[in-house]
Amino acid sequence: MWDEYEYRALFLWETNFYNDVVLGTFLPPAMWVKLPHFFQTWIRNFISGSIVYLLPGFLWSFVIYYWKRNLYIPKDCVPSLKSMLLQIYVAMKAMPWYTLYLTINEYVVESGRTKCFPRISDVGWPVYLVYLLTYLTLVEFGIYWMHRELHHVKPLYKFLHATHHIYNNQSSLSPFAGLAFHPLDGILQAMPHSISLFIVPMQFRTHIALLFLEGLWTANVHDCIHGKLWPIMGAGYHTIHHTTYRHNYGHYTVLMDWAFGTLRNPVLDDDDNEKPIKCN
Ligand SMILES: [Zn+2]
Ligand SMILES: [Zn+2]
Repeated sequence: MWDEYEYRALFLWETNFYNDVVLGTFLPPAMWVKLPHFFQTWIRNFISGSIVYLLPGFLWSFVIYYWKRNLYIPKDCVPSLKSMLLQIYVAMKAMPWYTLYLTINEYVVESGRTKCFPRISDVGWPVYLVYLLTYLTLVEFGIYWMHRELHHVKPLYKFLHATHHIYNNQSSLSPFAGLAFHPLDGILQAMPHSISLFIVPMQFRTHIALLFLEGLWTANVHDCIHGKLWPIMGAGYHTIHHTTYRHNYGHYTVLMDWAFGTLRNPVLDDDDNEKPIKCN
């Protein structure tokens, strides 16, 4: 059943396929065909990561700040162009490092060192879904504690995570804040995805898709629009995180904050001194 050589060949085939599609679409062949596989993968991840970050960010900002102005965000709470450009600058400066991490992550999978498998049919759908749930739980647990330690360990906060927390109210947060981290901070918070691959088997393609979905997910939790879909960590919760610094460290859901006593609900705490959403 498990054939390490076949798996490694399939992983390599898959990453080569992604490289051919993305690089073939955006670059002339002379620029990339002779590059080593690792660099092709890095450039492909850089192009894909930039698109996943910038395109939905521009589209969503256009909708909530311009087209549907005042519908989702009160117009006096719209972030300034300057703060959005600063977030894009910080995120794009970190992008080569984020995508280097993604490339090393793929290299480790290609070398057969993880529990990754190439096809869902290798394990069957029921087992795949159990693995997926376990993987997502591990990622949720890992990101919660990584994020919490980035606040509680003083040097980690001062030298890394503080970069992300200069955006501390609704009028400075925007979807572009989603990847505006010190590069090492962003990588540390993505690491639970890689570590999980050594604990639970996961389909390679699902793993890659979930890593790229992070770009969309973090944009979603920074747009200040509270989805109110329990137990999803909507932006209402994460905006509280940016105002109190002591609550709602979770990622996809509020469950870890609930389990470890750091949950603050945007609706219930509306009358508190620390309002979840401040405009100025
Ligand atoms: Zn934080
Ligand atoms: Zn944030």
